Amino acid sequence: MTTMSTPTTGRVHALAARVRGPVLDATDPRLPAEVAAFNTTHTARPAVVVGATDAADVAAAVHWAGEQGTSVSVQSTGHGLMSDLAGSVLVSTRRMAEVTVDPVARTARVGAGVRWGRVIEAAAPHGLAPLNGSSSHVGVVGYTLGGGLGPMARRYGFAADHVRAVELVTAAGGIRRVGATSDPELFWALRGGKGNFGIVTAMEFDLMPVARLYGGGIFFPGDAAAELLHTYRTWVDTLPEETTTSIALLRLPPLPELPEPLRGRFVVHLRFAHLGSADEGAALLAPMRAAAPAVMDLVAEMPYAAVDSIHMDPTDPMPTWERGTTLRELPAAAVDELLAIAGPDVEVPLIMVELRHLGGAVGRPARVPDAVAGRGAAFTLFALGPMAGPLAETMPAITQSVVDRMAPWAARGALLNFLGAAGPDRVARLWDDTDRARLLAVKERLDPTGVFRHGHALPM
Ligand SMILES: Cc1cc2nc3c(=O)[nH]c(=O)nc-3n(C[C@H](O)[C@H](O)[C@H](O)COP(=O)(O)OP(=O)(O)OC[C@H]3O[C@@H](n4cnc5c(N)ncnc54)[C@H](O)[C@@H]3O)c2cc1C
Repeated sequence: MTTMSTPTTGRVHALAARVRGPVLDATDPRLPAEVAAFNTTHTARPAVVVGATDAADVAAAVHWAGEQGTSVSVQSTGHGLMSDLAGSVLVSTRRMAEVTVDPVARTARVGAGVRWGRVIEAAAPHGLAPLNGSSSHVGVVGYTLGGGLGPMARRYGFAADHVRAVELVTAAGGIRRVGATSDPELFWALRGGKGNFGIVTAMEFDLMPVARLYGGGIFFPGDAAAELLHTYRTWVDTLPEETTTSIALLRLPPLPELPEPLRGRFVVHLRFAHLGSADEGAALLAPMRAAAPAVMDLVAEMPYAAVDSIHMDPTDPMPTWERGTTLRELPAAAVDELLAIAGPDVEVPLIMVELRHLGGAVGRPARVPDAVAGRGAAFTLFALGPMAGPLAETMPAITQSVVDRMAPWAARGALLNFLGAAGPDRVARLWDDTDRARLLAVKERLDPTGVFRHGHALPM
């Protein structure tokens, strides 16, 4: 596999003649806007961008890349941009914006460029909700292919568990529709194995009968972190599967858009989502509310469409570095170690150290089994810091040290969506020997020359 850096103008024109969307070479002034990503740590520098409008455009792009002997990358929102994609033919999917909801079947069908917000909006009038994550700005397809862990996870499982069909263009350039009965092995691998097997053009998945929930976030003073984390670790064992929670140590920047009590402060952010009545939810939440006085308590009954208010993730692009792992347990010693890493008594330039409570439906195999990694763990642990100024040099090591110090309590690997930038060997270690061999066999069958080797690529 060679890397193409400067395809001739004639070849790019030949590609442009085959697709309906725009085709941009590396010198095109429209390219920076087309590849602009949420995570600005990396700037995508593909050789060519194809602004695909449909599956035929994607197939033409993959075919053309094959003729040039180059790799193919894909981008929707850039929430998961992990490298500069140098020399690749980048398929930009944002024009593939179809969203259809079938309220009777309780399913949605989306094009590859759709963000969760559009699905939430389309499903809500029918009293339905998708299994989106903490931010509705994230892309449906990239999130779901990596598993997809959201605020209803303990009740319903990973987003990948509820995929009904995937349409994709494979390395050979063919357009395929894959479901539980057509190529079950590829269907298994796609749901959890991310972009390794082709460019997904559309996806169909279940919606859940959820119109409202009792949820939101509570900000506590950072000084109370020890009390809160120690309460949290035992409190989660009392929660039913209808309740999904996470807790984060946040060192918030002094941004004017943040409310004054949070601006530039170190706070503990508890996130709570309960699929049940407000009374029931409030009773479940009481021990955490009693653990420390809140700076801001935003937990209330809400329409599902307000789900972003649970995590309050940032929406503006920013340069960050992240590293994640999973924990099999959270004994007192693990909480003490976490406090020694990022508690109120230490100076550390991490924006967020987050624990998400797993178990419930995410701990059980999907009805149609899939390749989502990390299923048996008790918690995810995720560290994120800024990649600006001198910190850009040290942040990879700082986030890695969080994972290393928590290793005594680690489960196997990480959830792929929370792993952070990682080479093929590290990605492959997320699965046990059996599942890794299955994934590599599908990769070998579908993409023997490694056309799809960006993002979280499996080893060749
Ligand atoms: C603010 C924020 C909040 C997040 N919250 C959560 C969360 O709550 N739960 C969770 O599970 N994850 C979460 N994530 C992680 C997120 O799910 C991944 O980064 C995901 O890959 C983003 O997908 P995207 O399409 O938006 O991003 P992109 O950067 O456009 O794509 C990322 C990768 O997804 C794959 N991909 C995208 N489109 C296609 C396609 N059409 N065909 C094949 N592969 C494709 C490719 O490997 C690509 O490199 C969050 C990330 C951020 C930045």
